[in-house]
Amino acid sequence: MLAIIASATVLGVEGCQVSVEVHVASGLPAFTIVGLPDTACREARDRVRAALGSSGVTWPSRRVTVNLAPSGVRKNGAGLDLAVAVGVLVAEGVIPAEAVAATGFVGELGLDGSVRRVPGMVPLVAALAGTSVVVPAGCAAEAKLIGRHHVREVGNLAELMAALKGESPWPEPRADDVALLACDEPDLADVRGHSMARLALEVAAAGGHHLLMVGPPGAGKTMLARRLPGLLPDLAPDAALEATTVHSAAGLSLPPTGLVLRPPLRAPHHGSSAVALVGGGTAYMRPGEISLASQGVLFLDELAEFPRSVLDALRQPLEEGVVRVCRARAAVAYPARFLLVGAMNPCPCGEGGPPGACRCSDATRIRYGRRISGPLLDRFDLRIEVTRAHPADLLAGVPGEASAVVAARVVVARCRAAARGVSCNAELSGRRLEREGRLSAGAAAMLEGGLRSGSLSARGLQRVRRVARTLADLAGREGTLGEEDVCLALQLRAEPARLGAAA
Ligand SMILES: [Zn+2]
Repeated sequence: MLAIIASATVLGVEGCQVSVEVHVASGLPAFTIVGLPDTACREARDRVRAALGSSGVTWPSRRVTVNLAPSGVRKNGAGLDLAVAVGVLVAEGVIPAEAVAATGFVGELGLDGSVRRVPGMVPLVAALAGTSVVVPAGCAAEAKLIGRHHVREVGNLAELMAALKGESPWPEPRADDVALLACDEPDLADVRGHSMARLALEVAAAGGHHLLMVGPPGAGKTMLARRLPGLLPDLAPDAALEATTVHSAAGLSLPPTGLVLRPPLRAPHHGSSAVALVGGGTAYMRPGEISLASQGVLFLDELAEFPRSVLDALRQPLEEGVVRVCRARAAVAYPARFLLVGAMNPCPCGEGGPPGACRCSDATRIRYGRRISGPLLDRFDLRIEVTRAHPADLLAGVPGEASAVVAARVVVARCRAAARGVSCNAELSGRRLEREGRLSAGAAAMLEGGLRSGSLSARGLQRVRRVARTLADLAGREGTLGEEDVCLALQLRAEPARLGAAA
């Protein structure tokens, strides 16, 4: 007999509906799975057979063939286990076929018959066309985010069989075991001093400008970077669903609300591989750190310690807002619209700055600076020096301005950008920038001086104008950009030579 059960697999961050066709026929006992399964998926044979055995079902001593359609799509992971088991039960007549009509099944099976969580519940359920879906215990909250299905969760096969046969009611959804993500964001009020860095964070949040901080260890670069997401507004509904889908596809736990509503912060270590950062992988394609940081902040501490090849892999996503990963088996596109914050020491010894403090030779310092390629350095609209806070500031006991106060100004500035048809000023380009970034005579003269002396490049000029636009927006100044905006924008974009690093 033939049974067809709906399930789904994840490709990139998108789900793809899979029909699990189970055929049980007389012949020599065998169990085969066809239709491009990967290794984990092929091992479903052993898990399904053991799980059914543990649940009191005798394995058919006939020929069982499972086809995963469409056959052109590679099936990942163990999420199809449950559908295969249900297919065998229906084909064997243990469960009536009507009981599983218009119902999708997603979950991995344990050898004891338990039904286990798989990564990507949100995209998996989104791909299912039916009206009902059965998911592992603890996954109902994620599955309900899609909102189209009647969601039921089961802890093991025995429960599922009893419910499908109508012998007992469906189990009540359990208390969600989704781990609590840290939702208390650190506050800027904890930061003493650092007036320039605070301004840079505010401008980065308001205008979506990438930020590079250069300074000695212990100056507070990490502390500052971790406070940037707290200045960003809540995610809009479509951005929230996108961020949630990416987190779900990566198998990360979701916040108790189900949706990722706050801009995420990802801070991968400099030892991370290009695949961990950009996404991909051979066995199981998963989104990388830059996609998990999409709609939020990607913080790269010790920027100069990242391998050059890894940093170069960032350039295309920074330009396009998506990252395309091609592997032998599939090509997928992951979202990658993140705010990049880099932090680095001025030189290998970390001290940089005045002669005497730094113990590095000139040659060492130059070599260190060259680890960041020109094109990547150019992406940072904001480049500031972060020095250790002044002892008087640390002891004064006056708390800094709170994140909520700064975030309110950021929202106003972003509204001004939205009125121009962009989500933030960093996206202003070409004709829009010409119109929105007109310069007063004094401001133009100031920039001309920079261009003539060579301290400002043509591309740098455009970036300075965007930052100046954001500064004016934050201050509530409309119209042409004045000298004060341009002067401050230039200060926020220290030339690499001045930062000591790329001397
Ligand atoms: Zn040094």
